Amino acid sequence: MITDSATVVIIGSGMGGGTLAWGLAHRGIDVLVIERGDFLPREPENWSPQAVFVEKRYKPTETWVNDADDSEFGPGVHYVVGGNTKVYGSSLPRFRERDFEETIYPNGISPAWPFRYADIEPYYSQVEALFKVHGTTGEDPTEPWRSQPYPYPALAQEAYIEETMMRLQAQGLHPSPTAIGVDLQPGGSCIRCSTCDGFPCRLGAKSDAETCALGPALMTGHVRLLTGVRVTELETDGTDRVVRAVGEKDGERVEITGNAFVVSAGAANSAALLLRSRSERFPDGLANGTGLVGRNFMMHNNTHIAAIDPRRKNDVVFQKTFAMNDFYDDLGDGFPGGTIQMIGKVQASMMKTHATHAPLIMLKRMAERSLEFLVMTEDTPAPHNRITVGSDGRIRVAWNRTNYDRHELLLDKATKAFRKAGYVGLFQQRFTIDMNSHMCGTVVAGTDSATSVLDPWCRAHDVRNLLVVDSAFFPSSAAQNPALTIGAQALRVAAETDWASI
Ligand SMILES: Cc1cc2nc3c(=O)[nH]c(=O)nc-3n(C[C@H](O)[C@H](O)[C@H](O)COP(=O)(O)OP(=O)(O)OC[C@H]3O[C@@H](n4cnc5c(N)ncnc54)[C@H](O)[C@@H]3O)c2cc1C
Repeated sequence: MITDSATVVIIGSGMGGGTLAWGLAHRGIDVLVIERGDFLPREPENWSPQAVFVEKRYKPTETWVNDADDSEFGPGVHYVVGGNTKVYGSSLPRFRERDFEETIYPNGISPAWPFRYADIEPYYSQVEALFKVHGTTGEDPTEPWRSQPYPYPALAQEAYIEETMMRLQAQGLHPSPTAIGVDLQPGGSCIRCSTCDGFPCRLGAKSDAETCALGPALMTGHVRLLTGVRVTELETDGTDRVVRAVGEKDGERVEITGNAFVVSAGAANSAALLLRSRSERFPDGLANGTGLVGRNFMMHNNTHIAAIDPRRKNDVVFQKTFAMNDFYDDLGDGFPGGTIQMIGKVQASMMKTHATHAPLIMLKRMAERSLEFLVMTEDTPAPHNRITVGSDGRIRVAWNRTNYDRHELLLDKATKAFRKAGYVGLFQQRFTIDMNSHMCGTVVAGTDSATSVLDPWCRAHDVRNLLVVDSAFFPSSAAQNPALTIGAQALRVAAETDWASI
């Protein structure tokens, strides 16, 4: 049996867990991070579309179950040191001030967060510095106020993209530079390649949680990392205290004791771990007295669009350089819409994973003239959208789209704008249950212990030394990429929690 102990035990080394470890390390706190995966190797396959997208080299073989019809699917998760950030697009925008307030939609409510933008703003600045965020102010009409400038200037636009931006600006729209985390500045290691969004970085130049947070935390000597250990249960001493994380490594039992336990396993796995941790005192799972653990699963309403302008060859290398938030607060009917943002340049072999019947040569011609972007709107929390654990131990996801009329309206606005900008062919790929890269909710934070699982600092209302610090705490999904907000809250929790008295 493997045993170990630490003052704070963190389960999961992704955006939440890795960043929290950094925050705790800088307070001199003794931390052990437990990660089920291993280090993602730096190897030629990192940049191979065939290896990454077709052979799914860095995805687990694990399947989850769609509760609607019992079908299996391969989830959008990566069990490696750094979690999903090892492959993410590192688009790191702040949520807007309104995202922390209640928003009423025609068909749903996005609830208020238990803290305001002003409470998390200093930590947005800190996490932007940690993750080397590049950006600019004054061009996006919805940008929130900031106490510090961006640490680095926005990435330069390539000529093809600049031309597209001008065509959108001519319609009165405001395309503005993407806030993005890459090591691209004098002396930096980023070479501005075409294999960033969706790929691991072979150079360590992407601002992922291993590179920017966990790695530096380990260097302080206050943090240790245990890889290849899947935590299966948290055990209490019969009271409201967790005393042990139990797991397994290569078939061997692992027991880790500690003073405080932080679950940062990602929204689905964090909920599943709590649900699996049953005891006499917590018969329905740890911290689940209200039955809320696993509920209110969200993952954004997202659609990828490949827009084709047959008259222009797209020779861009790094495409994810602008976003458009003109319809974020108002779609023209007084209700919010969402964001439209560039994604990494899609290559023909990547298209083939979805357009399986299309000949590769045709996809190649398309890819030469296409520009790809993402239309993202908020899905509102609903208790019936939930994570449960099946009798076979597998994660089950019950998911029905919510607030989708807003998505349809923004898609309509986006396609009209790009058509007007010369893109006559617009191909849509709507996200399905397996495209859960932005998942959140499931262990929500709030001020009322009857309607939330965690307090505003992510500490369980009814388990004294348990925290959940990852996207699971989100009371709403907003309509911006989640990672920066997960990181900012992790730094806030690290700084504002009295760890000695837990
Ligand atoms: C292809 C892709 C592109 C993306 N692009 C962006 C983007 O541009 N911008 C953005 O903001 N977000 C993006 N995201 C989403 C972003 O990566 C996630 O929101 C973020 O990583 C979630 O952080 P987390 O801490 O909740 O979970 P994760 O970062 O996934 O970390 C969870 C960790 O817990 C570990 N773990 C799970 N279960 C256990 C267990 N039982 N025991 C021990 N360890 C466990 C996992 O292995 C993992 O390391 C993208 C995601 C993907 C997949």
